Parts: sequence; structure tokens; C-alpha cells
Amino acid sequence: MPRRTKRRRSRASSIGNVSCPSCGRTPKSRKELMDHVVRQRTLTNVSFSGKVTVTVMGIVECPNCGKRFRVVLSKVKLDASGKSPKERVLEIIRKEKKISLKELSEKTKFSERALRLALEGYVKEGTIKGHFEGDVFVLDERTVT
Ligand SMILES: [Zn+2]
Repeated sequence: MPRRTKRRRSRASSIGNVSCPSCGRTPKSRKELMDHVVRQRTLTNVSFSGKVTVTVMGIVECPNCGKRFRVVLSKVKLDASGKSPKERVLEIIRKEKKISLKELSEKTKFSERALRLALEGYVKEGTIKGHFEGDVFVLDERTVT
């Protein structure tokens, strides 16, 4: 029977140095780690200045001792030099009016997933008015000045 330890908030380990906090086992590969992810959650943080951090958290179950622990599976900061990523994305959208995530991804080098999350964030906070039609983001024309 696994010993119950006191519940405490431990900082989630990052992908580079993942090891089980209970038995110390380290997955041999990322694939092995991903095979033992039992739950996954994506957190998007859009700061006021427009910086977007997309973090994918996972709960991993240790194949050796069965202990579950949190791991940061990926963390992407949408940061760019010069114009903020937000400004770049908004500029492209205002120009194109309608753009697929694929195209936007090619232009900005951000992943489609991250862009979708970021755009949803911008819509939510009222920075732009628009909506998704499948994988295409459509700007609400009335907001164009
Ligand atoms: Zn373990």
C-alpha cells in the first residue's frame, strides 16, 4: 500500500527533468512520459500588455509506483522582438479581415493551437470582435475603422 504523504503544493516539474517525486523514476523518453499522462489541461494567460503564455499541464501516473504528479508538458511564450505578438497578430487580422489559423501560423510562426487560444482570449477581453468559422478567424467588420 502506498504511503500517504501530506498533501502539499509542489512546483510542477518541467519536461526536461521529470522524475517521480515518490520513487524517483525518470521516464526514458517524452513518448514514455506522454503514455502515462492521465489528465491534461491547457492554461492560457494573456497579460494586459498582450503577452500570451500557453501552458500545458499534465497529471502523470508513475508506471513504477503509481503516484500521480503534475508536469508542465509544454510552455510557450508568445514573445517577439519589436512589436508585441498581440500587435502583430491583430495587424494581420485587421488587414486580412478573414484568415485561417494555418495562414496566420505561417505568418507569425506561432502554432495554430496557441493562436486560437490567444484569439479567443482577445475576443473575450474585447480587444477584437470576431469569431471562428472552423479554423478561420473572421473579423467583425463593424469594428474596422
Ligand atoms: Zn514512482
